[in-house]
Order: sequence, then structure tokens, then C-alpha cells
Amino acid sequence: VNVDVKLGVNKFHVDEGHPHIVLKDNPDRHELRKLLNACPAGLYKLDDAGNVHFDSAGCLECGTCRVLCGDTLLEKWEYPAGTFGVDFRYG
Ligand code: SF4
Repeated sequence: VNVDVKLGVNKFHVDEGHPHIVLKDNPDRHELRKLLNACPAGLYKLDDAGNVHFDSAGCLECGTCRVLCGDTLLEKWEYPAGTFGVDFRYG
């Protein structure tokens, strides 16, 4: 069983309009690239133009992006509110 299949077992409750992680405006692209491979859920993605995009839906709340780049790249890193966020269903 590969990682994508395992991640697909989890459920994520999206708090529409209130992302729990927000990038700073115009984040350093070089720094951002560190997160392409570091986020275990693969939520930092590179487009064809070389820009990194982020969507907090599917976040595992592991804190890796916060530890690696929180001061330089992230405007906000919080745990999701109340009933929102990841619902682990594997293991
Ligand atoms: Fe990815 Fe972990 Fe950051 Fe969530 S907390 S976006 S899973 S690195």
C-alpha cells in the first residue's frame, strides 16, 4: 500500500474561509521549495511557472512546515478549530 492510498483513508474537514495555515505575501521562492518534499501530505505544489502553491486541506498537523520555515514563510500556523481538520483513520 503506498502513501497516497494511506493518506486517502483519512478524512479532512475544511473550515471554509478560515485556513489554519497561511503563507506570507510574496514568500521567498527558494525557501518555499524546501517544503515541496518536506510536507508529508504534499500540500506545497510547484506549478509550471515555478511558483509554489499551498492548500491547507489535507494537512496532517505534523508541524514540519512550521519548524522548517515558520518564521520566514508563514503568516499563520494554528491547529484547526473545533471539529475541523484531519480525522485520522489509519492505524
Ligand atoms: Fe504539511 Fe505538516 Fe505543514 Fe500540514 S503541518 S502543511 S502536513 S508540513
